Amino acid sequence: MPGATLPHVRDHNSALVLDLVRRGGAISRVELAAQSGLTAQAITKIVNRLLADGLVTEAGRVGSTGGKPRTLLRLDPGARYAVGVHLDRDDTTVVLTDLTARKVIRRHVPHGMTSGPSGTLDRIGGEVRAVLADIADATRLVGVGIACPGPLDHTTGVLHRVTGLPAWDGFALGAAAADRLGVPVTVDKDTNAAAIGETLSSPDTPATFAYLYHGQGIGAGLVLGGRVYRGRRTNAGEFGHQVIDLNGPPCRCGNRGCLEALCRAALDAGDPARAAQLVGVAAANLVHLLDVDHIVLGGPVVLAAAEQYTREVTTTINALLPEPDWQRVTVTLAADRTDTIATGAAALALAPLFNTSTSDDGADRAA
Ligand SMILES: [Zn+2]
Repeated sequence: MPGATLPHVRDHNSALVLDLVRRGGAISRVELAAQSGLTAQAITKIVNRLLADGLVTEAGRVGSTGGKPRTLLRLDPGARYAVGVHLDRDDTTVVLTDLTARKVIRRHVPHGMTSGPSGTLDRIGGEVRAVLADIADATRLVGVGIACPGPLDHTTGVLHRVTGLPAWDGFALGAAAADRLGVPVTVDKDTNAAAIGETLSSPDTPATFAYLYHGQGIGAGLVLGGRVYRGRRTNAGEFGHQVIDLNGPPCRCGNRGCLEALCRAALDAGDPARAAQLVGVAAANLVHLLDVDHIVLGGPVVLAAAEQYTREVTTTINALLPEPDWQRVTVTLAADRTDTIATGAAALALAPLFNTSTSDDGADRAA
């Protein structure tokens, strides 16, 4: 598979300028210089390269007071593509997105991590080739983002002991996939990708929020001040393994009374309302800890009874955090109900292009 490299955009200033063009919608060279702090000469040079690469196009002119009209620059969304892979236990979703992380093609296969690393890599390779077949030039692929259940190390792309999937413990998924696909591969937890996907699907999302995912496992993606917070070892957001009841049922992680174990017991007993209340209790703990005031709910268990689930979580939080001592916490459903994680994974692959990649404090800018 031919791998694309984007040498011009891999330097800091070009990425900064490209990000300003993306955020600005339509922006002039003068505005770019003012907002980036770069000289007019530097902007001219960088913009010329971006125009030559086709990443940016000229989009009309606007008059300026007392000066000559300014040419506006725009991002060309179809200039490059990214692939996002949501690798789950029992299924895999692959999306091809444009530069704005808008979904262009989607594929879904009913096989996931339970088939082991080797079979999974074969399948990802096949699916990525399949989505690329629809774009004229495969060298336009910027990279691939893979989102899967944690724990894992985001910086190295190595998976740790994923509950119930011992074959993946220590597997260098990022390196193996990059080797197989011939393009840069970024690996992150599904919940982090979901939080990133949410900011893309719903631009009004506040800069600080928690995305709570309830599927086969329970996890949280934390966006604090516009940045995904991963913690030192990508272990932030292991929300499902907070112990709620010391004498509770055993959990798959080896402890007792974790949120995840209590919710599973409630669901097994046919009481989804109870499971949602438990998540509400844990969400109130999260508000106590981080003072977030916006919570997004997603994942199959939530969506199976979306209204009831949202109501139970909201009621529980309000009961535990009464106004006026606490601010009102808004609870909403994820904007893109099906492909948030895969789209967020594609955004991970796009991040280096816009210099929104990992910083050393464990946080990433969300979008
Ligand atoms: Zn646990």
